[in-house]
Amino acid sequence: MTNTPGYMIVSWQMKMVISMQTSPFKEAKPILKRLAEHGHQAYFVGGCVRDMLLDRAIGDVDIATSAKPVEVQQIFEKVIPVGIEHGTVIVRHQHESYEVTTFRLEGTYSDNRHPDQVEFIQTIEQDLQRRDFTMNALAMDIDGNIIDPFNGKQDLKYKRICTVGKAAERFQEDPLRMIRAVRFVSQLGFSIEPVTQANMIKFQQQIKGLAVERITTEIAKMFAGKFIQQGIDCLRSTGIYRQLPVMEKYPGILSLLPPSIRPLHSFAEVIALFHIVKPAITIDTWVKHWKCSNKQKQEAVQLVNAWLHYQSLGLDQWLVYRLDRNYFSGFVRLGKNLKNPFAISIDDLERKRKSLPITSLKELAVNGNDIIQLFPNRQKGSWIKRYLSILERKVVYGTLKNNKNELKEWIIWNPPETN
Ligand code: ATP
Ligand code: MG
Repeated sequence: MTNTPGYMIVSWQMKMVISMQTSPFKEAKPILKRLAEHGHQAYFVGGCVRDMLLDRAIGDVDIATSAKPVEVQQIFEKVIPVGIEHGTVIVRHQHESYEVTTFRLEGTYSDNRHPDQVEFIQTIEQDLQRRDFTMNALAMDIDGNIIDPFNGKQDLKYKRICTVGKAAERFQEDPLRMIRAVRFVSQLGFSIEPVTQANMIKFQQQIKGLAVERITTEIAKMFAGKFIQQGIDCLRSTGIYRQLPVMEKYPGILSLLPPSIRPLHSFAEVIALFHIVKPAITIDTWVKHWKCSNKQKQEAVQLVNAWLHYQSLGLDQWLVYRLDRNYFSGFVRLGKNLKNPFAISIDDLERKRKSLPITSLKELAVNGNDIIQLFPNRQKGSWIKRYLSILERKVVYGTLKNNKNELKEWIIWNPPETN
């Protein structure tokens, strides 16, 4: 594509026309229409407009409106009041959820989570003013007209991340915006406008006061970005990594990451990678400091175990037996980061899994009771579980057949150890 202004304008208009006729905007249009019928202004806003202009896949379609949350609740049948006090409700339409947020101004974020108070306002331009970056301060009306008071389109064209208004003020108001800037570098491959960047360096210490969960969400998105290497370079060049949990104590940690790192789709994959390149930092430490869920921890543990198993024994039955199928793609992503070339594909894992005689302990043809019956004189205890896992392993590897009689026969000839 050439950069002649005329061509770009036509191209953007074309995109709008096409986008408005295709989902997901097309599917969301009835919501704007309905709000308009009730006398309210309504626009598509933020990331969805940005991504449409960039020809990127559109995630959530967010809507901004002059209607107050109670009015939105009255207009639509299915509404979930997720954040009424901040002006946001979710409208369900044809099995999809749309965040509908009333035009608002924000105060400061003294709890570092939510703005202290919000004030509902009447114009989209004012609403766009509270948004973080010019490229995110874009709105689109039902006819595909773009509202762009801060030259967001121009910044998109030059691949520039620039705050709306004075960077110093905007970063102090909500320091998360500095991390969001790094996240967008990684997702979009953009660079940060020099004044914005200088203020990220200047005000980075304020990141320490943020609620960790907010940081985790953004950093997880950062590691999933297509331009992750640029994102990491940006964490390093701004020094922002020094404000992040765990990394603050291990300043050299980013240089342990693979030189041509590839995107990771979950934060558990990120933790697994960091733990593998720096085993001294336990998974527990990462989980605790980044306030991850138990599920994320289990995912990281499984990925690390699978990787360690792969390193010593390669891809075998036990690996695919122990690794939850949902994490197969994560394992491949991890592998591609840790070994070059890494030839294992999801298909390889699936194929191996299909050939397994059992996929869980429940499918083993004998259980604890069978073993107790075979050794009635032995006191019950943890040996039963240990013995079952020996059987489980042998069945998974195909050394023993998963057949009750055959297993019993083997058990009689190979009795469990007494302690
Ligand atoms: P994604 O595609 O990842 O969802 P997004 O730009 O939609 O990207 P969200 O976190 O969903 O990002 O936020 C939606 C919009 O809300 C942004 O585009 C931006 O306009 C505004 N926004 C979000 N967080 C902030 C913030 N901390 N400060 C100011 N504006 C924000
Ligand atoms: Mg979004």
